[in-house]
Amino acid sequence: MRIFDEVLEAIEFHIARHEPERGGLLFGPMNRDVAALFIPDEGARSSSVTYTISREMCQRAPEIERETNLEYKGVVHSHPDSFDHPSTGDQSAAANALQLNPHMGKFFMPIVTANREGEGALRSHERAMEGGKIGAFFAERSRSVFGSGVEVRETPLFIVPFHDNIKKAAEKIVENGSCKDAIVSPVGSRIFVDEILSLAYSLQCDRHDYIIMGGELFPQGAPHILYSGHDGETRAVPVTWSINCDPAECIAMAVTLSLINETCREKIARLSSRFRQGSKRWRRDRKKLLKKAREQLKNAEHATSKKKKGEVL
Ligand SMILES: [Zn+2]
Repeated sequence: MRIFDEVLEAIEFHIARHEPERGGLLFGPMNRDVAALFIPDEGARSSSVTYTISREMCQRAPEIERETNLEYKGVVHSHPDSFDHPSTGDQSAAANALQLNPHMGKFFMPIVTANREGEGALRSHERAMEGGKIGAFFAERSRSVFGSGVEVRETPLFIVPFHDNIKKAAEKIVENGSCKDAIVSPVGSRIFVDEILSLAYSLQCDRHDYIIMGGELFPQGAPHILYSGHDGETRAVPVTWSINCDPAECIAMAVTLSLINETCREKIARLSSRFRQGSKRWRRDRKKLLKKAREQLKNAEHATSKKKKGEVL
């Protein structure tokens, strides 16, 4: 199961920092084991031992699916102490969800707990969080011909470190002196680039605006960067990418080169407009000079003709 770091940050904020049991819903692209959106379930009836999805949330889920083009994937919730796996109650809730949603192959059910064992003890389905850990599980319909229950399994958890690398890239751009301020903010919408879901962030370097988009395969897959020019045009920023590169470094490099490029472009535009103004002024001055020269010529002709007539000048 892959989870965008932004989603993990939201789970940390809404669940891990509070007393159990709290929860929320996960959404992701269709037919992919990816969590790309977390919606906290504020209205849930929860005690320290159980978490039950609120009725409002059940009703809102299909609306969220329609609005975001994402699919409901499951529920993440917290457990007290070191009870770090789904309970029997969670298993029957998952069975119920799979029955209500026959199109769902898997039901995600990550569990957040206070980590008492230290980071060294984390297993492949677990990742550390501030003040605890998250463990990834999913429920599947049982393949056994006997009974119609579900099986709950651990699944390896991969974090897509997209937000983190953009924040680091912004710091690098300021460090290398390309701009004074680099502000990263999430662009709310989830975008599909070549049918692959991407999360997008806006990066504002002084007065230059970029949009950076990354998919579930980041950092193996390169991000897409767009520049919104002051001339109203949007330009794709070339990104040099390789498996071995430091993602933040590569993003910083692409944006730095683009900043140089755009600054040069602006300078050239300014110079050429000044040149045009300059040449206009020059034409005006030339006219004046010509006029003056013609007058002088006329006076001179007048003088010579008088001289010929023998008049005293
Ligand atoms: Zn539970």
